[in-house]
Amino acid sequence: MSEKGVFQKIIDGEIPAERVYEDEEYLAFKDIAPKAPVHFLVISKKHSPRLDEMLDAEGPEAVGGLMAAAVRTARHNGLTDYRLVINVGPGAGQEVFHTHVHILAGREKPLPVS
Ligand code: C5P
Repeated sequence: MSEKGVFQKIIDGEIPAERVYEDEEYLAFKDIAPKAPVHFLVISKKHSPRLDEMLDAEGPEAVGGLMAAAVRTARHNGLTDYRLVINVGPGAGQEVFHTHVHILAGREKPLPVS
């Protein structure tokens, strides 16, 4: 069995995180190194390493479910304007291989996409 990843440890309460949304299937918490005034991460409690593998293994409902959880997290925290980012693969900057959506907000002007 592979070693437990950092986000799985957060799900299991083995390392602390500031939780901002949780339901049976999803968890959102504050990024430990925020890149914007508001920076949350949204994950499924069911592990998949990256978004494309989530699609292949679990289908489009899982991908849509994660995006819906991101919107619910934003609403739950009073956000109306925000950016959602998913890094897919190391070449795109993915460092933690438990699929996650970044919620970024609080800048007057968002950073450019490219
Ligand atoms: O998309 P990427 O994989 O690069 O994002 C990983 C994110 O997880 C980073 O923004 C990092 O700050 C965050 N992180 C965290 N808590 C940890 C380890 C990483 O919030 N214990």
